[in-house]
Amino acid sequence: MFATAHNQRFYTVEVTDKQNTILFLLKHMTVKEISATVKLDNILPCELSNKRLHIRKMINLFYGKNYDQVTIDFIISTIRDQQELEQELVCDMNINEIVDKYRDSITIDDATDINLINLLPFTTTCIQCKRVLKTEKDKNVTLMCLGTIKTCTIFKSNCNVCKIDYYPTYFENKIMKYKYLSATAIKNNHYLYFGGQSAFHHDLLVTFSSDLIFSHVPFNSFCESYDYIIETINRHNSNQYIPTTYQQQKLDPKLFQNTWLVFEMARFYFMMCDNEFFQIPASYEGPERDNFLRQYNEKFYSLFTGTKNLTEKSANMTMCVTFQSLS
Ligand SMILES: [Zn+2]
Repeated sequence: MFATAHNQRFYTVEVTDKQNTILFLLKHMTVKEISATVKLDNILPCELSNKRLHIRKMINLFYGKNYDQVTIDFIISTIRDQQELEQELVCDMNINEIVDKYRDSITIDDATDINLINLLPFTTTCIQCKRVLKTEKDKNVTLMCLGTIKTCTIFKSNCNVCKIDYYPTYFENKIMKYKYLSATAIKNNHYLYFGGQSAFHHDLLVTFSSDLIFSHVPFNSFCESYDYIIETINRHNSNQYIPTTYQQQKLDPKLFQNTWLVFEMARFYFMMCDNEFFQIPASYEGPERDNFLRQYNEKFYSLFTGTKNLTEKSANMTMCVTFQSLS
């Protein structure tokens, strides 16, 4: 041990290679900052352009530092190269605060590019020509969840040869003007996106199904109830104060009705057959919607009556879907 002129003590100790790397990393950043940097790198998709730049700006804004890009890249690449370091250095921390502060920043232009929820296409390989496709950001949309409204980022892949766009829940043939919902996405995804400016949490759609079957709640009442819940929770969370300029986003009954119908029809279709895709019109409103429902009504009814292995609950559900489809 020896002391410097500033009375800071230095020690000479024997360390392993791993400990040496950790000490080297700690010369650049604190453990908290390293942890947050690596977690942000894990959560944000590589398909997001300028991902590392956003991470640098988020860390600097949140911790009041001025790290350069080289330091951020060095920390991430060192931990990526030595995976066991992640267990030593990355703490179980909630990074929502970091992202929220960044998104609220008025001094950073592209801060709203960042969302904690990023919905990637259900495939990165064209199902027709089998080419591996490049994925890129499409847009930010409103995400309707139970008790809360968030934003999320939609990514898409495009096959120029087959003229097909791939999204998180479906693909769209740009020439034929049809969408094809993916069975895997409908069955597994927590968030469902059928196009437009809104995505929906699976639990919200299922909650309506339950309310419809057991409480006979119509769409308008469900949407009014949802808006009331969101407003009350927001008021409670903001200590009773809601700025006069605040405009709460509402759950549009028509949009919700169309989304829910597509969701339940797809669930019904995939429950009844082994097909991987379910075709719906590219534009699901007005006469196109009615024509589609008319066309599928008979098909659904024959699927329904021709199946013996339905549970009572799913039979109720499918009857509801069939009757709603007729209305
Ligand atoms: Zn293709």
